Amino acid sequence: MDTHKHGWPPCCKDATLLAEKRLQEKLSFRERFGLGLHLLYCKYCRRFMKQGRIIAAATEQLLQHDESLTLDAQVKAEWELIISQKIDL
Ligand SMILES: [Zn+2]
Repeated sequence: MDTHKHGWPPCCKDATLLAEKRLQEKLSFRERFGLGLHLLYCKYCRRFMKQGRIIAAATEQLLQHDESLTLDAQVKAEWELIISQKIDL
């Protein structure tokens, strides 16, 4: 494993960025591996990632149900609940 590149394994900031990037695009093996390694020893980012997954799932659900650009009331309520929980933290 070459480790000459700066910022690997990723710090919390990098891990957070990778977690968000992961929602938008596919990560490289190096990025996924670095993120996974970071999560092994960082409980804060594990907690963040858990929330990230919830948000990602909710986004996916929202997009799938949102072809007509009108929000299903239940989906909207769930979405607002998730967002409020995240903000509360
Ligand atoms: Zn971390």
